Amino acid sequence: MDLYKAIFESNRPFLIAGPCSAESEEQMFQVAHDLKSSTNTSILRAGIWKPRTRPLSFEGFGDTALDWLVKAGKATGLPTTVEVANKLHVEMALKAGVDILWIGARTTVNPFTVQEIADTIKGSDIPVLVKNPVNPDLELWIGAIERLQKAGLKQVAAVHRGFSYYNHIKYRNVPQWEIPIALRDRMPQIPIICDPSHITGARGLIQSVSQKAMDLNFDGLMIEVHPNPEHALSDANQQITPVELAQLIENLVIRSHEVSPTIEDNLKEMRDKIAILDDRIFELLSARMKMSSEVGAFKREHHVTIFQQEHWKQMLLKRLDMLDELDLSDSFVRRLMDEIHQESIRHQTKVMNPKND
Ligand code: PEP
Ligand code: MN
Repeated sequence: MDLYKAIFESNRPFLIAGPCSAESEEQMFQVAHDLKSSTNTSILRAGIWKPRTRPLSFEGFGDTALDWLVKAGKATGLPTTVEVANKLHVEMALKAGVDILWIGARTTVNPFTVQEIADTIKGSDIPVLVKNPVNPDLELWIGAIERLQKAGLKQVAAVHRGFSYYNHIKYRNVPQWEIPIALRDRMPQIPIICDPSHITGARGLIQSVSQKAMDLNFDGLMIEVHPNPEHALSDANQQITPVELAQLIENLVIRSHEVSPTIEDNLKEMRDKIAILDDRIFELLSARMKMSSEVGAFKREHHVTIFQQEHWKQMLLKRLDMLDELDLSDSFVRRLMDEIHQESIRHQTKVMNPKND
């Protein structure tokens, strides 16, 4: 199928939906039918070989289930996609007539496996979706896309599913939006689909992450949908019903990324004001660091160390006390103060020990 054409000609968001795992022929037929009749889903997804973090979790029904996916797709006219993680998976998926392959996050991290997959697909014109690696490494993500492109594949798209983090308070996989944004800068021709299901791990957060993806001009969404999410054999907490998906899409506000000349003028005026403020911020930072150098010279003269723990603690606390007044977040103020502190230490070091800069 022509994936790029389908993405670029679709009404945003281009939608890939279906269960985390294909669990039975009935489940696949029901979900495909419901998606077709009540949503604008373009591609039917389902996992067949499931890469589970821990053993003894449900690992998919394997090639038997491949047949359920393909049949459900044919019955509803929905093209299908499945995750492949090795040569055998690719061969079976191609033979079964799956329309699009996807490479999972745990596979993208391994260049040997990605190369094995690319070598097996070579010669076919099947589109491939490449999920980001589990770790926040843009180069690995780009490397996997390049391996497929070098194998002659013309239709490669990226899927942003967030990055592993130990015990994150909110997300199952932290979005780190700056990484897919950097991918867009480096590979502007590659469509990017957001997978809010695996980012959030919780159905209640999927709406807001989907909205953010739309506001950042992502091309589409891949969302896990199950006829009976609470009883799903994998990822039960993050799957939603087809009716919930329809509602979610209905609730999305799709803003245009094309800017009219009037809007451009108004935006320019506001951006000019911001640029003036940014100029001031940088002038002040530069003046502040000059002052740090003076402090460094003074400390050198009086033989005192650069880092004064108690003073630093007081400086930080003073700013944290002003969060409400300044309308700034705790994490922003901590990070900003930390950066200012590091830069200040660098300036003082330069004065104290010119050779250690
Ligand atoms: C999936 O989409 O079901 C899946 C296993 O995804 P990921 O590779 O992003 O964990
Ligand atoms: Mn899943």
